[in-house]
Amino acid sequence: MKRLLLMLPLLLCAASAADLQIRFLNVGQGDAVLVTTPDGKSMLYDAGRGTTAAQLLKRYGVKQLDLAVMSQGDADHIGGFEAVAQQFKPRAVLNNGLAKSTQTYARVLAAFEQAGSQGLRATERSINLGAQVKLQVLPALGVPKTNQNANSVGVLLSYGSFKVFFGGDAEPVTTKGWAQRYASQLRNVQLYKALHHGSKHNDTLEFLQLVKPEMVVIGVGKNNYGHPSSEALAVYKMVNAQVFRTDLNGTVTVSVKPDGSYTVTAEQGLGTQKTTRTTTPAPTTPAPTTEVYFRNCAEARNAGYTNIKRGESGYRSAMDRDGDGVACER
Ligand SMILES: [Zn+2]
Repeated sequence: MKRLLLMLPLLLCAASAADLQIRFLNVGQGDAVLVTTPDGKSMLYDAGRGTTAAQLLKRYGVKQLDLAVMSQGDADHIGGFEAVAQQFKPRAVLNNGLAKSTQTYARVLAAFEQAGSQGLRATERSINLGAQVKLQVLPALGVPKTNQNANSVGVLLSYGSFKVFFGGDAEPVTTKGWAQRYASQLRNVQLYKALHHGSKHNDTLEFLQLVKPEMVVIGVGKNNYGHPSSEALAVYKMVNAQVFRTDLNGTVTVSVKPDGSYTVTAEQGLGTQKTTRTTTPAPTTPAPTTEVYFRNCAEARNAGYTNIKRGESGYRSAMDRDGDGVACER
């Protein structure tokens, strides 16, 4: 018995360490996506504003970042890098090479310099993030060097057959260039970050029909821009993508196994969105820092959850048939 107890933590570690994890951090209105590889490497694609991203990196156990990516120079993407650079000393920082004359930009660059991060320009290049995860950098092609959004840095991440695409706030002129040059690589990604927080001016049906994402995650908070727009949501629907939003779902985590199967968990549950896809395997027990979601009590019990009280992770009123505030009673 004693031996069993000792083995348990080791088994749990082994299970989670084998996954690639992609976390769309809830940083309010802005983007910040943390990627951690099965062999412990980490990348942060954008950092939102303020110190929320830094706090979440700490919560998710990041000690040092291997790569920081500034998709473009606006504050809702890079502001948070000041604290992140100070606390997580990224080994390298990748940007679009387009300076911005704001105080935020200057402070962020100074923080990266102080951290000793190696500066990388977003040219056509591949970067290995650990042994199994490959990043292909997609620079904006043939776009005037005046507009930060249009010069967003594209990153196509692949892990076995699983593909993820991040395109910052790229504009249709940018995605057209990417579609022309990288069509074969961009075809059929599983996971896609909504461009420009779901604005109506960015994601086009043409590009989404090429990428055909199974899941779209929108980095969005309270805003006056009307993000996400009904136009963008309609485009995601037309390609049958399942949509998650950091304003409704909180931090959204996708865990990918080496065989390409994946699990989605969200801090505030997945219940705000209709589940339309059946390719998602049954959720496994996630790390304790993540909110869990179960489709039913059988699934919850299988994962070791019983007597889930209202307000606790995993509780849903649909699983609390007698409505007494306790779901999946033993
Ligand atoms: Zn933005």
